[in-house]
Amino acid sequence: MRAYERLIRYARVHTTSSDRTGTHPSTARQFDLARLLVEEMKQLGIADARVDEHCYVYGTLPATPGCEDKPALGLIAHMDTAPSASGENVQPQVVEYTGGDIPLPAGGKVLSPRQFPVMDTLVGHTLVTTDGTTLLGGDDKAGIADILTAIEHIQTEQLPHGKLCIGFTPDEEIGEGADLFDVEGFGADFAYTVDGGAAGEIEYQNFNAASAKLEITGFSVHPGSAKNLLVNALTVATQLHGLLPASEAPEHTEGTEGFYMLEEISGTPARAHMEYILRDHDAAKFARRKETMRRAADFLNARWGEGTVQLTITDSYYNMEEKILPHFHLVENARAATLAAGAQPVTVPVRGGTDGARLSFMGLPCPNLGTGDFNCHGECEFVSAQQMDQVVQILLNIIELYSK
Ligand SMILES: [Zn+2]
Repeated sequence: MRAYERLIRYARVHTTSSDRTGTHPSTARQFDLARLLVEEMKQLGIADARVDEHCYVYGTLPATPGCEDKPALGLIAHMDTAPSASGENVQPQVVEYTGGDIPLPAGGKVLSPRQFPVMDTLVGHTLVTTDGTTLLGGDDKAGIADILTAIEHIQTEQLPHGKLCIGFTPDEEIGEGADLFDVEGFGADFAYTVDGGAAGEIEYQNFNAASAKLEITGFSVHPGSAKNLLVNALTVATQLHGLLPASEAPEHTEGTEGFYMLEEISGTPARAHMEYILRDHDAAKFARRKETMRRAADFLNARWGEGTVQLTITDSYYNMEEKILPHFHLVENARAATLAAGAQPVTVPVRGGTDGARLSFMGLPCPNLGTGDFNCHGECEFVSAQQMDQVVQILLNIIELYSK
């Protein structure tokens, strides 16, 4: 079976996660795909395939004779789809792409190379699109399909390999995919998440991330007699925002430039609440951003009275680069495997986080690989069947490199 055919089966299973339920998994429907995958893994000869109570799917292929001393390699993808678009009743369309616009059958949307220039590089490919009313869920069911298709090749062609550990997680899209991942039970020395975009993407740098919450307490008096008395929490909030560099916002930054982003602001003269996210690839600059935030709060407390501004900064995740550099063979082998599969390795610092970043700090170094999926999280999502084939070959090449 080709990887895109597997994807089409998985895409029909509704697995949208939710950041509102607070349960693990966040939505019970993710078990529907988990059970289907356990069944399929068993058919592929992964005898210990299982799903745990929190909807994490694990399974291992023991090393083939002669490869017992080779490193244990993990391959990880996620089962949930983003809550930002509907993932219910997904109707994948298979299109033999000859160029130009692709009309999506429902909803009146069109996939156009004018909007998505990457389509020009995919003429002659078999594309799988949505029907225009849902996302496709190639993020990250394409990753699951790539991994299990590679396993199928290994089994039917009896390819030699070290111990292989397969993991499929729930709730990646709400930032919780790594939370209950059993790194020890997984049993891998290192792993790859297969959760990127185009075939050939290799990602091992991501943001350092923190959130900052501010509670601002004003002193409310009648405006007619407010002179030298009123402390307007809303004014203090705007002053705080004014103390941050205006150019260091997401809408003005790219590449490895970090930012502050105001995500929430609400209040009255008596009380205001603000929430920021802070991002930077560079650890020292990340620390300076947090310091800038603290100094702004200190300044306003000195100006308006101690306790006016209460600041809480919480780290969210860190740049995995420091955990990957000591195992840089992960990147070098991925590059060699990509070139050998006829694809171009592309490494771009991720302006976000990955589950692999969290896993890297949990003791499982874990760069991220492309899947063959494009425009994730919306109705314009599609995959290239040929790029998915290429990802399967990249995975097989990586497995071969680690069995030598
Ligand atoms: Zn993903």
